[in-house]
Amino acid sequence: MADLLVTGGAGFIGTNFVHYWRKVAPDDAIVVLDALTYAGNPANLGGLPGVELVVGDICDDDLVKALLRGRGIDTIVHFAAESHVDRSIAGPDAFVTTNVVGTHSLLKAARTVWLDEGTGRPHRFHHVSTDEVYGSLGPDDAAFREDTPYAPNSPYAASKAGSDHLVRAYHHTYGLDTTTSNCSNNYGPYQFPEKLIPLFLINALSGRPLPIYGDGMNVRDWLHVEDHCRGIELAICAGRPGEAYNIGGGQELPNLRVVQEICDAVDAAFASDPTLAGRYPDAPAARGRPSAELKTFVIDRKGHDRRYAIDETKARSELGYAPKRDFAQGFSETLRWYLDREDWWKPLTR
Ligand code: NAD
Repeated sequence: MADLLVTGGAGFIGTNFVHYWRKVAPDDAIVVLDALTYAGNPANLGGLPGVELVVGDICDDDLVKALLRGRGIDTIVHFAAESHVDRSIAGPDAFVTTNVVGTHSLLKAARTVWLDEGTGRPHRFHHVSTDEVYGSLGPDDAAFREDTPYAPNSPYAASKAGSDHLVRAYHHTYGLDTTTSNCSNNYGPYQFPEKLIPLFLINALSGRPLPIYGDGMNVRDWLHVEDHCRGIELAICAGRPGEAYNIGGGQELPNLRVVQEICDAVDAAFASDPTLAGRYPDAPAARGRPSAELKTFVIDRKGHDRRYAIDETKARSELGYAPKRDFAQGFSETLRWYLDREDWWKPLTR
């Protein structure tokens, strides 16, 4: 049994992780620490038994220490972050504060309570990071391995790289029991509609343009969030202290292909369910038109990385990790969720 502190547990991946953990370890106590920024939604955790939401900032190390002591926390799963690259280009300060200073505040609190005061119990600090810390690949370059040199290109990626280095340093210097996972692009339920997949899906339903950066040939490896959650569980339970693990979905796709898959799936959903035309009258699919007519090419993102790809050999061989869904299956489940949960996303699009 474990007592978990999940930071950022009211955001996209954190929410999915809390739901996942509740299923696989129903007796564990879970405290979620979340500042409820625009990306956090307390309703995501509503009705989950044994989950306590504490609204607060990870930069508040007194609060974090009080939670570690008072709730007997032995496992921190750290998701809380500013996570959107475009926002980091427009305003990097919050990324440095939350992602670097906030991660350091958690590490300091864990060191004080777990190592200096000593709890007499094993502990684990799992840090959730990104493949973006490795920079950009050319079309024929080998995929990112855990020993690929860091070369972050956006303020977001740089702030995550800084946090990864701090986690590494707290293991090597102080002996904190840490693991880090660097994952690729996630998609699935509860994703805030500023990220590509929910944004394009909702725009296709609403008859709004699908804005494609540059030539649309930027390549990402798409990972269903539940596969990611399983990878994190494996890293927490079986990962070696101080190690990092790359977690991918094995689905390397150019953005144009992802957009076409979204359009085709929306068109097929309207063709098989006549009620959708009534619910979404502004969708081209409601008039028998292809959603693809909404595709619009826009000026490329500044410093846009061309390609990310994950070599997950280490996670496969050491942890037994393997993604269970390909993109077609994962996206069709995601589309179904967004069609069923308009109550969740509609208020966020106003
Ligand atoms: P998100 O933006 O959906 O959620 C972030 C959560 O953190 C929100 O609930 C927010 O309220 C909370 N938060 C922000 N600042 C905080 C603070 N100072 N104190 C406490 N809580 C705070 O992000 P996500 O997509 O769920 O990403 C979770 C983690 O996974 C992040 O660390 C991100 O870097 C990493 N990651 C995400 C992806 C992806 O595709 N979404 C890919 C790779 C890595």
